Parts: sequence; structure tokens; C-alpha cells
Amino acid sequence: MKVGVLSLQGAVEEHLEMIKRCGFEGIKVKTIEDLEKADRLIIPGGESTVIGKLAKIYGLDREIIKKGREGMPIFGTCAGMILLANKVLGIEQIRFNLIDIVVERNAFGRQVDSFEVDLKIEDFSGKPFKAVFIRAPYIQKTGKQVKVLAEFMGKIVMARQKNILVSSFHPELTEDLRVHKYFLSDHY
Ligand code: GLN
Repeated sequence: MKVGVLSLQGAVEEHLEMIKRCGFEGIKVKTIEDLEKADRLIIPGGESTVIGKLAKIYGLDREIIKKGREGMPIFGTCAGMILLANKVLGIEQIRFNLIDIVVERNAFGRQVDSFEVDLKIEDFSGKPFKAVFIRAPYIQKTGKQVKVLAEFMGKIVMARQKNILVSSFHPELTEDLRVHKYFLSDHY
């Protein structure tokens, strides 16, 4: 299985490293041709407006939307989550509308720009997950088909709707492979 990482901007290398450590081949996705080779896709953290604009310039937005609708497993972290959402509060920006959530950007305030917390993730056994948040968004509202997987301070920070998985935090910045393993396991 080849796992694509959308490589327009953001934390690309860290995801490729996690994919490798999970035992799969990671490939950079910069063009539609690259996307064709991928069986699954990770959209990394970074700056969602920049990634969105570049995706549109390369025609990748429409292809990602098409693949997502056809059932391709796609995992969006942080900015990636914003791009996959149906709605972003207070701003019109390019989105792929693949998961029925409303997100708010930079939702944890300026004073706490970046932080790390022990997170309890639904269905994960063992110790809590050390979640790294960087100017993170949160999920303000979910549709009926969305399963909430984790909350922090009463805010939803991880969720899934069928083949689409999203997290506010950055699992690629820890040593813990569980979130990537969850995404790369075959229960779709
Ligand atoms: N605040 C960024 C955005 O809105 C997301 C931050 C991140 O991906 N670490 O795109």
C-alpha cells in the first residue's frame, strides 16, 4: 500500500517518517499524477489557506474531493482537518467538504499557541496519547454521521466520518505510532 502525503506546504517529512515506521511506503503528492499512485492520503498541518490555494492551482482540490467521495481513506491533521471540513467559522476559504464538521481556527487562544496534553482517544487501549497542539483548530459541531474520537477541555479534537479521519493535533510530532496505525489499518 502506498500512502500519499499532500506535499504543498507544512509538516510533510514527519508524516512520511511515521508512515515508514508503520511499515508502509510513503510518497509525496504534489501533482494529480502523484495522487493517482496513492491508496491513502494524509493532509498535513501547516497553513490551511496556503495549502488550499496551492491545491487549487495544481487542480488537486477537485481530485482529492473526487477520491474522498469515492471512499479513499484521507487523514487531515490540524490545517488538514480545516481543509476537509464542511464549514470553517467566520472565514470563506478553500475547503474539500468531505466531513460534516464545523471547525473554528486558532481556537485555543494566543497565549497557549502550542501545548502538549495527555489525551484519551476512543477505542485506543493503553496509556493516554501525548497530543501536540500548534495554533490548533477545534470541532465546534458534528453531523450525525460523524464519530467523535477525542475531546479536550470540552472541545472535540478528533473525529471520523467513514473514510475521513481528522485531528486538531499533530500525531506525527510524537514517538507514538497509534494514530497513524489506526489510520493505516484496514478497517474501512
Ligand atoms: N492555524 C493553522 C491554520 O489555520 C493550522 C495550524 C497547524 O496546522 N499547525 O491553517
